[in-house]
Amino acid sequence: MQELTRDVAIVGAGATGLSAARALTRAGHTVAVLEARDRVGGRTWTDTVEGARLEIGGQWVSPDQTALIALIDELGLELFSRYRDGDTVYVSPDGGTTRLTGDETPAAPATATETERLVALLDDLAAEVDPAAPWAHPRAAELDSVSFSQWLIQQSEDPDARDAVALWIAGGMLTKPAHSFSALQAALMAASTGAFRHIVDEDFLLDRRIITGMQSVSEAMAAELPEDVVLSCPVREIHWDESGVTVVGQEATVRARRVIVAVPPNLYSRIGYIPPLPRRKHQAHQHQSMGLVIKVHAVYDTPFWRAEGLSGTCFNPAGLVQEVYDNTNHGDERGTLVGFVPDEKADTLFALGADERRSKILASIADALGPAALNPTVYYESDWGSEEWTRGAYAASYDLGGLHRYGPDQNEPVGPLYFASSDIAGPGYQHVDGAVRIGTATAERIAASLAEEPAAGRIR
Ligand SMILES: Cc1cc2nc3c(=O)[nH]c(=O)nc-3n(C[C@H](O)[C@H](O)[C@H](O)COP(=O)(O)OP(=O)(O)OC[C@H]3O[C@@H](n4cnc5c(N)ncnc54)[C@H](O)[C@@H]3O)c2cc1C
Repeated sequence: MQELTRDVAIVGAGATGLSAARALTRAGHTVAVLEARDRVGGRTWTDTVEGARLEIGGQWVSPDQTALIALIDELGLELFSRYRDGDTVYVSPDGGTTRLTGDETPAAPATATETERLVALLDDLAAEVDPAAPWAHPRAAELDSVSFSQWLIQQSEDPDARDAVALWIAGGMLTKPAHSFSALQAALMAASTGAFRHIVDEDFLLDRRIITGMQSVSEAMAAELPEDVVLSCPVREIHWDESGVTVVGQEATVRARRVIVAVPPNLYSRIGYIPPLPRRKHQAHQHQSMGLVIKVHAVYDTPFWRAEGLSGTCFNPAGLVQEVYDNTNHGDERGTLVGFVPDEKADTLFALGADERRSKILASIADALGPAALNPTVYYESDWGSEEWTRGAYAASYDLGGLHRYGPDQNEPVGPLYFASSDIAGPGYQHVDGAVRIGTATAERIAASLAEEPAAGRIR
């Protein structure tokens, strides 16, 4: 058991915790990062499975993710563009396929017009919402009291337009059914990327990837702190008072002036706080839960779809695998597809055995791209719901009414305890960019508070 003394202890070596550690170290403070897993990166994890390098967690970088892009640049990492040449395949509820070129839509003209009207409406709403304080919107309570699906019913009589718009936020982003989160939560998701229109546009949202994989951002930050990251060290208890904290992990105990709990909000309660947290935190922490999505990876000898003039992008809203994209690695001759099975569809598939689940998933991809999709050389399902130190994917969000009720307090420290995660970030919410932003901002708040203390200085 290591006994460490530092200015700041950090729980969790994801992009949030490591960004905070980096900023604090640069400001002249000492840190120790305690990480439960035997690796850094948290929900970013680039691993080799049966010879194929896969992005098991977060991977895409969009143009609005400017804090992440600046960090990638600083760390000397390189980006490449997602393959997107060729037609998109749309699978209709009756199983028929349509090839779409450019901005073509499969919807009937009236539904296309109505969908565009709803997109414009949500763009206007997102423009009114400050992602750092969505609860400050003048109609926050009203928007947070109605589910996104009910809100869409209030706005439009066209069920097809409503379903299309609901899916972009529900299955596509929050990975929860549209009846389970509020219109305000949907507006936050849109505002955090700059506009609702960005969420609708896969060429914006899924723009680029890092050649060495998204986890290499965290690995590069951890490499700057070789003696300050302790792996395989779940934190079980935090003892705290106004003088500081003692953070008790499996492999190390850290005495520090401050602690940043940089774990997703659904895991706050895995840690024992001594004395207990105040009532408000106890309550608030029960209202954020993880979404659920199966991220499916299928690797083929060649990207066969490209030869047919297809981009690999497929949409199948009524099917199991709702979205598919070409996820081929930079410079790889093989072709990789990635697909997503969200929320209740994931429940259904996880109730099956592994072989049956695989057959159904590949059959769903084949509905769009033909029988060649049925036989990948490597097949893998990212199952974050089974990961003890995450428990879902992509991220945590509030239940109905929780955002305006508890959100204003989510970034408030309790004495020397600070909370930070992409899931309580404003801009970059639920994304690696948000992790970088909130990690850095929390470090700056702590550095400012330490500077006000008479005995402030480096502890080691
Ligand atoms: C499948 C998937 C796909 C995604 N796709 C994208 C994408 O394309 N682009 C994008 O920008 N974002 C994407 N995301 C979201 C993105 O990965 C996350 O928002 C971001 O990585 C979160 O960083 P974080 O540091 O806040 O949290 P995490 O990465 O969850 O880090 C928290 C860390 O805390 C550790 N921990 C937890 N409890 C304890 C404890 N008690 N003691 C010690 N350590 C503990 C965990 O092991 C973990 O390492 C995706 C996420 C998933 C799961």
